[in-house]
Amino acid sequence: MKDLVSPTPPPPIIQNRHSEIRELFQRYVVPSYGRFDLVLSHGAGSYVWDVSGKRYLDLGGGIAVCSLGHSNPEITEAIVEQSRRLVHVSNLYYQEPQGRLAMALTQCIAPGKIFFCNSGAEANEGLYKVARKFGHDSGRFEILTAFNSFHGRTLGGISATGQEKVKKGFEPMIPGFRHIPFNDLQAAHDALSPSTAAILIEGIQGEGGITPATPEYLLGLRRLCNEKGLLLFIDAVQCGHFRSGRFQSYQRILEGVSGGESFVPDGISMAKSLGGGFPIGAFWLREAVHGVNLADSLSAGTHGTTFGGTPLGCAVALKILEVIDRDSLADHVRVTGDWLQSAIQDLANRFPNVVRAPRGLGFMLGIELQEADQVPSFSTSQTPPSLQVVHRLHEAGVLTIPSGNQIVRLLPALNLPRAQAEEGITLITKVIQSFA
Ligand SMILES: *Cc1c(COP(=O)(O)O)cnc(C)c1O
Repeated sequence: MKDLVSPTPPPPIIQNRHSEIRELFQRYVVPSYGRFDLVLSHGAGSYVWDVSGKRYLDLGGGIAVCSLGHSNPEITEAIVEQSRRLVHVSNLYYQEPQGRLAMALTQCIAPGKIFFCNSGAEANEGLYKVARKFGHDSGRFEILTAFNSFHGRTLGGISATGQEKVKKGFEPMIPGFRHIPFNDLQAAHDALSPSTAAILIEGIQGEGGITPATPEYLLGLRRLCNEKGLLLFIDAVQCGHFRSGRFQSYQRILEGVSGGESFVPDGISMAKSLGGGFPIGAFWLREAVHGVNLADSLSAGTHGTTFGGTPLGCAVALKILEVIDRDSLADHVRVTGDWLQSAIQDLANRFPNVVRAPRGLGFMLGIELQEADQVPSFSTSQTPPSLQVVHRLHEAGVLTIPSGNQIVRLLPALNLPRAQAEEGITLITKVIQSFA
């Protein structure tokens, strides 16, 4: 018989895999991300498992990307089916999926056209070029963006982003961007210069902490841009694609608001949820803007990207649109999102010394926490409250996304079942209680 008090047993193989994989990152992957100490291996729906077999309820959705959850069989089938026919062809040629997706997206917005690219930052880059082209002959080039915005990590993206932390160390910025306070119409008015060509805002600020634009701000910016002949662009990379319960967040924000039905921006950038995890980005341009056809302003040879709108990416995005429509996921997001929001409000009522308030709309929600110095259990650590909560949620088996120091974001799959939303709230409640 074996000695029961033998030296410490060898670590399970799983543990080796965890540290082995981490080791690979430490040695070979550029350390530009602050990563959590989780090594994920597979997923199904809104659950993911780490390499040790622990299950997590994923309420972060890959930062608003996995619109139909993980390993969705219909997406898998779309990938398999399309990849049997054609994965990629150059944009030197026509192919059906790109044309059909462009039509489907345009029909969700207003008359216009779509350019396909591969990411959110790249979609915004396209909009910057459209603004420059638009203003070129009149000597206008400047784009106003909001403080606390986020527009991506390319050089143009960090120049456009209204947060110092993304710019630091990479100066000089690309000229032609200035920042204005979000939801402050007068500030936008006052900031205009003879060089201003466009205003770009998020419908709901995401990285900046889940702040929806107000109806007055949207309508006021539209009026201002009409008066001054400027372009109004919406960065819908995070807040778009039914995350708010409508295709675009401005549609939801302006519901029931007088004049809201006719609100249309001049350009919209998209990515994240569009491909459900398959990388694809796009921007939409409106047809008739200030007497020009903006949708035709990028003529042949003026813009492009090798991988933009591959048959594979477009087939996946088409499948996602089909499932969202068939399963009425917009309504589901609205109803379940409202329920989640009221559950977070209950948390704020029950534990007012930990949770301040819910934020956001639909499945773009934030749990706003109290300041560290007001909560004894937060102030015992230097770690920001948002990270402390996210860490403890990991222990409890839930994935969420911190946003700044104070906000924990929920950006779940659009098909998160109600029962799993309830399960999430039960676990979140336990964790919040542990800080109270
Ligand atoms: C994520 C994000 C981007 C950048 O998208 P990438 O695909 O990471 O380049 C741009 N704008 C907003 C609002 C985002 O949330």
